[in-house]
Amino acid sequence: MDRPVNFDHDRQMLCQCCGHGWTVTLHWIERWDESKEACPGCGVTCEAEDAPRVTVDPDDAALIDEAVPTLFWYHTSTHDDWPRRSIDPAARLTATTRLMMGGNERVAAWAERQRAKALHVGTYEAAIHNMFRRIDDQADEGQQFYLYRVRLRPDVTVRPDWLIDPSNFVGDVELAEVCPPGVDVARYLNYHEDPGGLSLALGRAAIASTQRVAIPLGSALEGWAIDTAAQIQAATAPTATSAVVSDRPQKRYEPSPQSKRADRLTKAIAESLPANIRRHFWTASAYDDESTPAEWAQRMSGLVQLISSPAAVLEELDRAEITSVAK
Ligand SMILES: [Zn+2]
Repeated sequence: MDRPVNFDHDRQMLCQCCGHGWTVTLHWIERWDESKEACPGCGVTCEAEDAPRVTVDPDDAALIDEAVPTLFWYHTSTHDDWPRRSIDPAARLTATTRLMMGGNERVAAWAERQRAKALHVGTYEAAIHNMFRRIDDQADEGQQFYLYRVRLRPDVTVRPDWLIDPSNFVGDVELAEVCPPGVDVARYLNYHEDPGGLSLALGRAAIASTQRVAIPLGSALEGWAIDTAAQIQAATAPTATSAVVSDRPQKRYEPSPQSKRADRLTKAIAESLPANIRRHFWTASAYDDESTPAEWAQRMSGLVQLISSPAAVLEELDRAEITSVAK
């Protein structure tokens, strides 16, 4: 079962100092993070030790234990075979890296820890945000991403209640830490992606099946994108008369006129997106002089679609093959 997708929905805040709870917008959270907002109950700002934080929505369907396996969960990855049965994280290490890590025994222990890590799935919004964040923060720019829809085994045991985001922003949490024996799935409050939403830490065995689409979707170039491509194509360097106003040598890395025009167009689009994704989107949609304006506009339009027209993406997933994940 899919839940309605809305990147811009209101969030619940809870103050650790005074216990006040209230509803805010994403825009409010952005201002809060810049110390421009305070708790309406006690006046503390984000700098206080026990500052208010975003918390779960009491109406979230994922709070009901029996509902957890009936919901669709999402994950984004640059791997086209997620979740892999048994990855050897050490396979890609060079001999030099192995030496630097302290030799083969240390590498084997490290690889074991990597294998013991929990998998993460969350809302559609969290998965898409995760992709944008990875492109921005972790230099995954230029990589092909895949969106997975995950169905859980109907008989999974869900850990009662929920945890505070245990992954410390990098997704490094050992499965056994959050799912003790007899527990398949642990809910945790997501602070960073779809803030206030519930994500799950789980092992591969809790997953029944997946469906996968490559994102952004390679839709046909139409409407807005055609117009955008034409505008970028038409962007030209300043004319000779206006260029010869200074004797200073040309800057070596002056962006191309096409790149400057694309930048202006991106800025306008970014303004219309949810506040917490704006900066990541900015990086993800950077103009690349090696692609044509049409290619860039198509990619940009596909990235926007992931946020503003999720129905098209979910329909594409409906049509995707269902892959069983064997125990
Ligand atoms: Zn307070």
